[in-house]
Amino acid sequence: GHDAPAVVMSPEEHRRKVLEAPVVLRVRELDKSFRGLHAVNKVSFDLHKGEVISIIGPNGSGKSTTINLISGFITPDSGIIDIDDDPVAGLPATEVSERGLSRTFQNGRVFGGLTVDENINLGYHKKLQAQRPFKNLQKYPIVRWIPLLAETGVALIHGPKTQREIKEVDVRVGREVDRFRERLGDRRSDLTYTLSYANRRRTEIARAHISEPKLLLLDEPTAGMNQSETAEVLEQLQHLKAQGHTILLVEHKIDLVTALSDRVLAMDGGRIIAQGSPDEVRTNPQVVEAYLGKRK
Ligand code: ADP
Ligand code: MG
Repeated sequence: GHDAPAVVMSPEEHRRKVLEAPVVLRVRELDKSFRGLHAVNKVSFDLHKGEVISIIGPNGSGKSTTINLISGFITPDSGIIDIDDDPVAGLPATEVSERGLSRTFQNGRVFGGLTVDENINLGYHKKLQAQRPFKNLQKYPIVRWIPLLAETGVALIHGPKTQREIKEVDVRVGREVDRFRERLGDRRSDLTYTLSYANRRRTEIARAHISEPKLLLLDEPTAGMNQSETAEVLEQLQHLKAQGHTILLVEHKIDLVTALSDRVLAMDGGRIIAQGSPDEVRTNPQVVEAYLGKRK
């Protein structure tokens, strides 16, 4: 399980090990155009169990569209998306999340009117709300929060069913909040809109992984954060990696990408123009030309 002690491995060892693990996400020839604009152009890759892959690339290169296609928020024109060998291409987001995919959003989606605790607890099945409706959720009209819940992109597979399971969830949520309590203070019961932007985003990451998804997609989790906030997210993500989570990350900060990734995909104009280890991709002349050169 995810509570096993972290195994310390060199990046090389980790990469070698995860490449031998089963494929969790298979993407083949994924294609999407928006009125003539080829946003995602024949994208193919495999993501293995326990692997962390980062997608880098300039703005508009198709990174978010790739994540939106995989998570079912956009329908592909063509191509294959398999999760654990089950085809999910074209399924709506709610059904993809039922297959075990959790995600976060480039702009962040937490319920400002719910507490930190309640937001993280949303990472569990809707049954949880039926058994123990959140106090603050009652402020949201039911016609609004049911679709909003689906829109959070949280994996809906491991809902607790018994009182004992609900207690265990509470313990895990508490442990998770403890991981960023230094910044949060004792704000577990505070409404999320009162938190800093960085802590709202960290709450969203916690919500996405607390249900132990098969697959975690993070779209620019450190966008708009300063150096110390970015370092805290890196620590949070390194913890997830050590727990064995399978992660597809869109990220601009190349130091964070290098520290975290087993492999990197570089996109430009909807295509994957390079892939390999962080060092291989960072020094690839085409990548430097298309992206990294412009950022310096
Ligand atoms: P990135 O995340 O790499 O910055 P996106 O995947 O968001 O890039 O966008 C890729 C291209 O597709 C951009 O040119 C963007 O303007 C376009 N695009 C994205 N979503 C839509 C949409 N819903 N309708 C029309 N064009 C879109
Ligand atoms: Mg984007």
